[in-house]
Amino acid sequence: MTKKPKILLIYTGGTIGMVKDYKTGALKTFNFNKLLNQIPEINQLHCVIESISLKKPIDSSNMNTSDWVLIAEIIEINYNSYDGFVVLHGSDTMAYTASAISFMFENLSKPIIFTGSQLPIGDLRTDAKENLITSIQIASAVENDSPIIKEVCLYFEYKLYRGNRTTKINSEHFQAFTSPNYPPLCESGVHLKFDRNLIFKPHSKESLVVRKNMVKDIVILKIFPGITKEVVKSILSIENLKGVILETYGAGNAPSDKWFVSLLKDAIKEGIQIVNVTQCAGGSVIMGQYETSVQLQKIGVISGFDITTESAIAKLMYLLGEKIPKNQFRIIFETSLRGEISKPN
Ligand code: ASP
Repeated sequence: MTKKPKILLIYTGGTIGMVKDYKTGALKTFNFNKLLNQIPEINQLHCVIESISLKKPIDSSNMNTSDWVLIAEIIEINYNSYDGFVVLHGSDTMAYTASAISFMFENLSKPIIFTGSQLPIGDLRTDAKENLITSIQIASAVENDSPIIKEVCLYFEYKLYRGNRTTKINSEHFQAFTSPNYPPLCESGVHLKFDRNLIFKPHSKESLVVRKNMVKDIVILKIFPGITKEVVKSILSIENLKGVILETYGAGNAPSDKWFVSLLKDAIKEGIQIVNVTQCAGGSVIMGQYETSVQLQKIGVISGFDITTESAIAKLMYLLGEKIPKNQFRIIFETSLRGEISKPN
């Protein structure tokens, strides 16, 4: 029998550990340790599980960058004592947190698996048990004495995704997440089927660096037919604004109105980083493919390629926090750092 991997379960909040307030009918956070007793099955897993909970578990809609740092610090402090980490998190902002943690952990060589559920763990029809048990199994999966997964992932409803590729697509279905531009890394059926070719292979054997400086002075500007000059102008003149995720149409297209392009151009001149991300559920930005994106490319808008908006937000906050020289920002943003983008051939 091989040595049992040690897994740290980190409870941050979310439906998985909530109970119903029978007075109001609303779900609220609860003491997770008590709820863990409801799944004695986890004692059968071939691993040692220890758990820790945020002092005040939260609904993930209340997540802030300071909570990301808190989660990162729990993992950082315990990094050498455990073989893998499972983070229990509300599904609403799980894709954002998983993306952010992926950027914050450079040279990660252990699994960090995010999971949660659509129904509380105590509910008769809960999806929590399968999500939790399989996440722990994945976090403890080893091959040749080395963890199979060495990246930040999200597990939900029989699929393991790269965390920074995910997006929440449904508020009711058990299959709440998808990864529009990257296939699942593992599927859970009778066996766990890992796809070795898709799993992130760390480039270096350097030691772990945890970066915690996330800059919040950014905005998402989603364009729509009829968007006015006043709206764009006022968004771009927000005090201290440092970055914009520009959600464009299709392959990265936007209105070619002079006022629109010139407002963006002025913002870029002032040092604001503007990233082009598509509003489409899947596919990539290809600036220059249509006339309506040629101008954006000319004025220095950064391409997000096939990055999700969640991941773009996290990457922008992270790179702004790294104080990268302005002339290198675009090159670094357009580089895949943690497998978050693939560039078209
Ligand atoms: N509102 C909850 C949260 O994100 C939903 C969930 O856990 O699925 O914390």
